[in-house]
Amino acid sequence: MPRKELLDSIRKYVHPFRISKGKGFRLKDFDPGDTCGLKLGKKEAADLLQHGIAGLAEEQDMLYAQDTWSLLLIFQAMDAAGKDSTIKHVMSGVNPQGCQVVSFKQPSPEELDHDFMWRCVKRLPERGRIGIFNRSYYEEVLVVRVHPEILKRQKLPSPLVGKRIWDERLADIANFEDYLTRQGTKILKFFLHVSRKEQKKRFLDRLEEPEKNWKFSASDVQERKFWGDYMDAFEEAIRATASKHAPWFVVPADNKWFTRLVVAAAIVDAMESLDLAYPKVDAAKKKEFAAARAALSREK
Ligand code: ATP
Ligand code: MG
Repeated sequence: MPRKELLDSIRKYVHPFRISKGKGFRLKDFDPGDTCGLKLGKKEAADLLQHGIAGLAEEQDMLYAQDTWSLLLIFQAMDAAGKDSTIKHVMSGVNPQGCQVVSFKQPSPEELDHDFMWRCVKRLPERGRIGIFNRSYYEEVLVVRVHPEILKRQKLPSPLVGKRIWDERLADIANFEDYLTRQGTKILKFFLHVSRKEQKKRFLDRLEEPEKNWKFSASDVQERKFWGDYMDAFEEAIRATASKHAPWFVVPADNKWFTRLVVAAAIVDAMESLDLAYPKVDAAKKKEFAAARAALSREK
């Protein structure tokens, strides 16, 4: 099948998971094990993904050449949902010069001395680039919401910390994304939706397989206790911030091959909608080219 048709065929796996209107969104309507009835072997899945990756590379080349739009890809998930490996596989075909991955961890003392957006604003992608946020300002309405003691460390003036703080933060995030959109940043947000059961299995793998030991962290197991609180926080975040211009994708994450396919297809789809093209060469430039060609051919 030609690439165009293949890409069209994987695009149908994006639609069911795209949330572009938050109202009425319920996480329980989404199954982490969903594969849209698709049953692929390892090799077939990898082949299909390869086409997505190639499509992405073509789009990125134009994004970079055109130098006007930028793309911000946000990845949020529970531990072991596959953020790192999805980023690694899906972005494997893109030119590293046009792409930057930023991982956001617990804020440093310097970062805590600023508003929460500060550290993220500094790392936003330049025009023509793809920026990948491995975790992001959404942590401010996820981990910080689940553990209010973290909020205390943020040194906010106490009159500003009220009952409505989470709604206010969500509104600020939605407004910030409106602003970025109007500045030419296309935003896609991925929630890799893994089940609690699959997370347990992956933690056990990390304990058992020596090459995976380094990924294991006892504190990740502690966080499992707050699973329900996290799911509520994710649901509220998606409800408050899903929009047409900055959609969420609730990506089934119990099958890694399917996660990668959906993410790759969602990115290609969004980039195609930007109608990217190489900059046009005008008459003056063509004249310049002719002169350069003549000069080169005169060389001995
Ligand atoms: P990951 O867990 O993303 O795969 P990692 O294991 O390499 O990455 P960690 O040291 O676990 O890195 O750092 C991520 C941790 O930082 C997560 O527990 C996350 O909740 C936390 N974190 C990120 N942003 C914030 C924030 N704004 N406030 C508090 N904690 C945060
Ligand atoms: Mg971690």
